[in-house]
Amino acid sequence: MNPKALIGIPSLLILAVFARPAHAEWVNRVTDGIMGTRITVELWSEDKDKAEQAIDAVLDEMRRIDESMSTYKPTSEVSQVNAKAADGPMRISKELFDLLVTAKEYSVLTDGAFDITYASVGYMYDFPKHIRPDDAQIARALPAVNFRHVLLDPKNQTVQFSQKGVRIDLGGIAKGYSVDCGIEVLKARGFTRAYVSAGGDSRIIGDRFGKPWMVGIRDPRKGEGEVITRIPLVNAAISTSGDYERFFDEGGVRYHHIIDPHTGHSASKVRSATVIGPYATRTDGLSKTAFVLGPEKAMEIYNRIDDIDAIIVKLDGTVVYSKGMQKPKQSAAAQQ
Ligand code: ADP
Ligand code: MG
Repeated sequence: MNPKALIGIPSLLILAVFARPAHAEWVNRVTDGIMGTRITVELWSEDKDKAEQAIDAVLDEMRRIDESMSTYKPTSEVSQVNAKAADGPMRISKELFDLLVTAKEYSVLTDGAFDITYASVGYMYDFPKHIRPDDAQIARALPAVNFRHVLLDPKNQTVQFSQKGVRIDLGGIAKGYSVDCGIEVLKARGFTRAYVSAGGDSRIIGDRFGKPWMVGIRDPRKGEGEVITRIPLVNAAISTSGDYERFFDEGGVRYHHIIDPHTGHSASKVRSATVIGPYATRTDGLSKTAFVLGPEKAMEIYNRIDDIDAIIVKLDGTVVYSKGMQKPKQSAAAQQ
């Protein structure tokens, strides 16, 4: 080969890199501390500055949602609702009203497994401090747990609790919602390939140039990097709830952050549940169902909903998949 050609190739490459004012690349940022969780944003951009500004805007949007929906913040709109809605109808923002409507829809869809009034009992748990209510405290508070106690009037955009003692908490839906809002921020700025996640809730738009995004599902009994499987996804949301997220073990029982609205106790019928669908609000809302209803009943519900798929890790460690996730070969075998 001509030695000149050998020298020529690298210099051409260098020219190619410097000739363009900006070059397209994947830009990503990981931020801790918003909504008490880790936020990851990754996107494909032709302009690094625009990408960084867009990520700032996504994080601002998440902070805004946290300010209005966190029950840890006494000034939040949700905290105000908890303080006043038992006294009479209370006008709330359109955004919160719409999310309360959505939350109620999920309660109906999941036979009451998803219920934001779980907080009427749930507020007495403090998992990091190993604090839980005793049976008498649960029995006293339990009548207040029922999504039907949340009265919504669309005409006046008001919420009212039908009795004292009712509290709501959007912890089971707000992260997914904030991910959807983050994706909207990116779409509005023209991004077509992106990934946004808040803790266990993620959503993806576009692909990775002909390839899907690969999202790992953690093994509930192993370290963070250990996955049971990786799911290829394009234009989809995915949420995982696990009994390893916020928990403490006491007397051989695991107390963790998903509460059975019927009993007021930790719902422990599976180790983890992953739900895949079009929106993260939806997948987040539905991922708690399996803990409360158990794998069979939950899978029945997931299979009933058109645009939803699910992967459940049962208490014995076996993994079950919804109909839509079974490989064609398996379904063919099942039909025989
Ligand atoms: P993460 O908060 O990490 O996204 P999950 O999506 O599994 O975890 O949601 C767990 C949260 O859901 C709890 O911390 C609590 O705020 C809320 N929650 C617990 N039980 C219920 C329930 N039965 N219905 C609705 N929300 C619930
Ligand atoms: Mg979640």
